[in-house]
Amino acid sequence: MKARSLSSVFRPCRAWVAGIALLSLASCVTTPITGRSAWNSFSPAEDVQLGAEAYEEQLKGAKLVTSGAQKEMVERVMKRISAVTDAPGFQWEVRLIDEPKTVNAFCMPGGKMAVYTGILPVAQTETGLAVVMGHEIAHAVARHGTERVSQEMLLQTGLGLALQNAKESTQALALVGKELLVSLPWGRMQESEADHIGLMYMARAGYDPREAVEFWKRMGALGGSGTPQFLSTHPSDETRASQLKKLMPKALAEYEKATGKAAAPPTKGVAPGTGGGK
Ligand SMILES: [Zn+2]
Repeated sequence: MKARSLSSVFRPCRAWVAGIALLSLASCVTTPITGRSAWNSFSPAEDVQLGAEAYEEQLKGAKLVTSGAQKEMVERVMKRISAVTDAPGFQWEVRLIDEPKTVNAFCMPGGKMAVYTGILPVAQTETGLAVVMGHEIAHAVARHGTERVSQEMLLQTGLGLALQNAKESTQALALVGKELLVSLPWGRMQESEADHIGLMYMARAGYDPREAVEFWKRMGALGGSGTPQFLSTHPSDETRASQLKKLMPKALAEYEKATGKAAAPPTKGVAPGTGGGK
């Protein structure tokens, strides 16, 4: 986490808490792994509730994969990564949605996740899948969804009032929050933080973190005129690769601790298909 990002987030956080009559609803929370201070007007239990409701709505009419090796792989990655996260009380669950043309995955606040079959060819291996699932799980653990909703509500006076009134009507909060949860894009800081946290989680779960650089390269290569949905909300640039490389020694140390063995020397990065997934 860069110092600049930390301070730019922390300053408004303090200002809001000090200056706005929503004090009783607001709290500064510390993000796992990066240690960033974030302002969030929701409790972790509300993340679980809001996320679960939004999840059910998102899955309405979705064609689910109900058996087979791909479904088992997706569930295995979820089990391994969720076991090493810092999110007590989350209700982890993952569904695989049969949409070969949708290159996407998401994890709702509170831990309910969906992976689209269209991202599996880009993931290539279980380790590649762990990159994208680790990243999405990191968004949930860092509580980016309700952080964005909290910020948006304060920026819009009407919604700020709705938030205040929500003390009496948590239902109103839930309605507005759910709407925003699925419509707000991630900020650049949140993307960078999800990369950071996701990298450490996949390594802790025993997946070779070096595959993250390769995975995002493959995602980037899908750009151009046919930019997939996934990249429209997940901007990919060179700073992403350079941040991941900077974090790699620490991630490799986590990986070696988790697996009890030294990471195999990379021949040329980590060749697709030879990642450390078990
Ligand atoms: Zn993201």
